[in-house]
Amino acid sequence: MLEKSATEMATALESGEVSSVELTKAHLARIDEVDSKVKAFLHVDKAGALAQAEDVDKRRKSGEKLSPLAGVPLALKDVMVQKGIPTTCGSKMLEGWRPPYDSTVVTRLKEAGVIILGKTNMDEFAMGSSTENSAYFPTHNPWDLTRIPGGSGGGSSAALAAFEAPLAIGTDTGGSIRQPAAVTGTVGVKPTYGGVSRYGLVAFSSSLDQAGPCARTVLDAAYLHEVIGGYDPLDSTSINAPLPPLVSAAKNASVKGMKIGVIKELQGDGYQAGVLKRFNEALDELAKLGAEIVEVSCPHFKYALAAYYLIAPSECSSNLARFDAMRYGIRVGEGSAEEVMNATREVGFGKEVKRRIILGTYALSSGYYDAYYGSAQKVRTLISRDFEAAFTKADVLVSPTAPTTAFKIGEKANDPIAMYLNDIATIPTNLAGICGISIPSGLADEDNLPAGFQIMAGAMKDDRLYQVGAALEAALLSKWGAPILSKAPKLGAI
Ligand code: GLN
Repeated sequence: MLEKSATEMATALESGEVSSVELTKAHLARIDEVDSKVKAFLHVDKAGALAQAEDVDKRRKSGEKLSPLAGVPLALKDVMVQKGIPTTCGSKMLEGWRPPYDSTVVTRLKEAGVIILGKTNMDEFAMGSSTENSAYFPTHNPWDLTRIPGGSGGGSSAALAAFEAPLAIGTDTGGSIRQPAAVTGTVGVKPTYGGVSRYGLVAFSSSLDQAGPCARTVLDAAYLHEVIGGYDPLDSTSINAPLPPLVSAAKNASVKGMKIGVIKELQGDGYQAGVLKRFNEALDELAKLGAEIVEVSCPHFKYALAAYYLIAPSECSSNLARFDAMRYGIRVGEGSAEEVMNATREVGFGKEVKRRIILGTYALSSGYYDAYYGSAQKVRTLISRDFEAAFTKADVLVSPTAPTTAFKIGEKANDPIAMYLNDIATIPTNLAGICGISIPSGLADEDNLPAGFQIMAGAMKDDRLYQVGAALEAALLSKWGAPILSKAPKLGAI
């Protein structure tokens, strides 16, 4: 059962072939078996998960009509608050904090009967691309335990790839759902900004942060997206409009007659040859399915990374001011409020978080504001216009998700710029507030590690991601003969 998709598990639950308690126990046993190696979880809530599973089983027995994913287990990124369950956001700052309320995403998961197994590891406050910035421990890529699982949501993606959970929640500010999906051979979706509520998501960069589904198949991601997505009055940036139909888009996948735009600026120098090769082969598959492949140019994308690394740190310097030793988490030292705050922030925040707070504070300071933050906001507009122009020529846009496959743990840990470059292809989407998906494109020749294929669509056109993603996934599946994850090393008996 563990290797099945969430949708297959849901069918087995519905037919009574397996109970949610059995399924949950099997996943908890799998976590016990492999997580000492993978280290995807910061906290496993065995009792809570089993209680939830018992409840779903009871409701099913009583004939209640349940939602499609009822009884299926899920791993939750530790950036998302869940009432009574430790939420650290990968930081020492929040060690021991138990939130007094549920985020909207958690409320919706619970209402749908999705079983929350526990909280997954992440880069501190979602800042990073490798999960090495977690204040607790790095997570290991199940394909090769000496390599990173991507970041910041490496825990969620590693849990999927190690068959510790069939579904997971991530958040994507600049790529943290899609890049981990790419390097673990899984599927990750960054929904349209405002499409999934941010209520109860620990804020990093509020104008960019977006929660989304992580899964092993496109259809599973669509089901999960429908559970968590849609208007929420508790989030002032939530879009007050119904989600487009996502599951039916995935089920009726066809690209016949569609125009698919290849972004010229998101390939070439800096991209690993094997990643590009799989990308181009995937384009051939889409062409064989009847899509028209066109090239588009987005000339301002070369400034996207620079703009992001002004906007995200600026917003984080403001958002993280709430960690003042008075309201949340740890408190260190004695003396005046300022002395206690200083001592707490010194101990509570890691190196990368401090770097960004300093950068952001500088960029927002009087005299520099226009030159840095103001210019970055203008670039953001230019990037949105590049997308708008490109979407007049194509229905969806595509690129490799990440320039390389998973690198070694430690390889880029002391080189922030090299780390930032991982998100070169994912960041423009966040800056423009549109949506993107990463699906596996195959294994790169150099290292036999998974590469990702990114599909981007305009705001509230998330259905197109699923439509094109599912069509490509099906074509690649018949080419490979088996899901890409079946080629990953077995980390123990399944
Ligand atoms: N890697 C990027 C960063 O460090 C993106 C992170 C994210 O999407 N949360 O900011």
